[in-house]
Amino acid sequence: NSLIKLSNVSKEYKTGNQIVKAANNLNFTIDQGELIVILGPSGSGKSTLLNLLGGLDKPTSGEIIIDNENITNFSDKELTRYRAKEIGFIFQFYNLIPNLTACENIEIMNDVVDKNIDGKEILTQVGLSQHFNKFPSELSGGEQQRVSIARAIAKKPKMLLCDEPTGALDSHTGKIIIELLINLCESENTTVIIVTHNSEFGKVANRVIHIKNGEVEYIETNENPQSVD
Ligand code: ADP
Ligand code: ADP
Repeated sequence: NSLIKLSNVSKEYKTGNQIVKAANNLNFTIDQGELIVILGPSGSGKSTLLNLLGGLDKPTSGEIIIDNENITNFSDKELTRYRAKEIGFIFQFYNLIPNLTACENIEIMNDVVDKNIDGKEILTQVGLSQHFNKFPSELSGGEQQRVSIARAIAKKPKMLLCDEPTGALDSHTGKIIIELLINLCESENTTVIIVTHNSEFGKVANRVIHIKNGEVEYIETNENPQSVD
């Protein structure tokens, strides 16, 4: 019973008289609780795919089914609600609000999802119990990424979409962030999708989707996903 099902999904961008097929006839499914790494060189269509899954963009053709709902037919209003409720986004540059503390950056989600999230509880879960009242500028890159992960998981989304989550971090800190994402995937049964061009992270995934020129080149299955060391 898959959480995500893509059927013949294509996305074309027109610039002038040129057409770029950023996604070309994608077909695959992803299960609840899977850890997926999407690997491919720059320009291969990774961000396009993540934007389609997150309802930030609509395919030119094909269908995207999430939890038995066809999001391809959603109105803009329904897509906004879908993003707010079901998706946690994690970006390369954290996207925290600079004039809010770590705790406030998380509790601001309460207005969006109509919940009563305790920022301190979630920050403790990601190892930041010492930093509730610090502003982003007072935190290291790795700590800021933990805050952004805390913000993303606070609403208990069906999936976490991570676009180069370690791209701005040194390799040691990046590995710790990947470990945190693995643990969340296992403990919460959250589907975690990580876009990266770092092939080293392929081994942590249940499956690695290799993409090239907007197409799935091949899908690699790891019978025994490894931790990063
Ligand atoms: P990646 O994330 O792997 O670097 P992208 O999904 O960003 O790849 O881009 C895939 C292709 O689509 C590239 O050729 C890129 O230039 C093109 N592209 C992406 N977004 C747009 C857009 N909004 N308008 C025009 N072309 C785009
Ligand atoms: P990443 O490095 O994370 O893949 P990109 O720099 O490829 O990010 O893309 C960042 C944003 O710019 C994306 O939202 C993408 O849709 C848009 N974009 C990428 N390529 C183009 C392009 N050729 N024209 C217009 N927008 C683009």
